Amino acid sequence: MSRYKRKRVGDVVYHTQAWRKLRHYYYGKRHGICEQCGMPGDIVDHIEEITEENVNDPEITFNEENLQLLCLSCHNKKTFKKHFPIREGFGFNESGQLIEIKK
Ligand SMILES: [Zn+2]
Repeated sequence: MSRYKRKRVGDVVYHTQAWRKLRHYYYGKRHGICEQCGMPGDIVDHIEEITEENVNDPEITFNEENLQLLCLSCHNKKTFKKHFPIREGFGFNESGQLIEIKK
């Protein structure tokens, strides 16, 4: 296993109290269900990903219209699409760490 850990631009958002509150609120609003597949959700994801350009824009970072609740599997599918160079069977957990996905 590599010790590789992504440094995400979104960390400045994810480490705030405001985000934890919003995440908790949104999770409850969706009843903890993945919006893609209906399984139990794990991750409140930004539909439009946080970038250097929009990280200070609350319309992106703290706008519930830009959020979706995903399970780990659906979140990884989205991540794989955008950042493909990861071997099958690996993905990122909620902290952005590379993990092996048990099947
Ligand atoms: Zn799902």
